[in-house]
Amino acid sequence: MEALQDLLANLVPILQVLAILVGAYLVLLWAASVLWAYRDIRRRSDDVSVQVLAVSLVLLLPFAGLPLHLILRPPQTLAEKYERELEQEYLRRDIEEKYVCPECQRPVEPDFILCPHCQTALRRRCTSCERVVDLTWSVCPYCGADGAHAARQAPTVVAASYPALQRADDAMTR
Ligand SMILES: [Zn+2]
Ligand SMILES: [Zn+2]
Repeated sequence: MEALQDLLANLVPILQVLAILVGAYLVLLWAASVLWAYRDIRRRSDDVSVQVLAVSLVLLLPFAGLPLHLILRPPQTLAEKYERELEQEYLRRDIEEKYVCPECQRPVEPDFILCPHCQTALRRRCTSCERVVDLTWSVCPYCGADGAHAARQAPTVVAASYPALQRADDAMTR
C-alpha cells in the first residue's frame, strides 16, 4: 500500500510537468494558427476589414476558428486572381482580333475579296494562281505574277486607292 502511495507521489509532479508541456504546445499551436491565418488572408485579400475579421476569428476561437477561416476565406489568392484576369484578357483579345471592313467596320473574313455588306474591295484574286492577295502588293507573293498586269485584267475588283484590310483594333482607335 505504501509503495503505491510513493508511486502516486512521484507521478503527480511528472503529470504536472506533462500538463504544462502539453498546455504550452497548445498555446504555441494556437499562436502559429493565428500567424498562418494572418499570412493566408493577406495573400487573399487587400481589404483590411476582411483581414482583421479573419485574424480575430482564429485568435478569439482557438482551433475552432481555423476551420471556419478555411471555409470563409476567398477561394483564390490575389496572385491567382491576377493571373486569371490576364488569361481572360488574352482570350478576349483573341476573340476580338477579327478582321473588319475598313469602310463599314463590319466583320469580314481575311480571305474575302469584297465586303459582303458594302461591296468595298478588300483584296484581289491573283489572275495566274487564283490565290487571294493584298490590294497594295504589286506582285503576287505566291506565284510572282505581276500585280499591275493583273489590275488591268480585272479592273472591277482591283482599285488601288481602296484601303487594304485592317485589324479590328486599328479600326477602334480611329
Ligand atoms: Zn463593308
Ligand atoms: Zn499568283
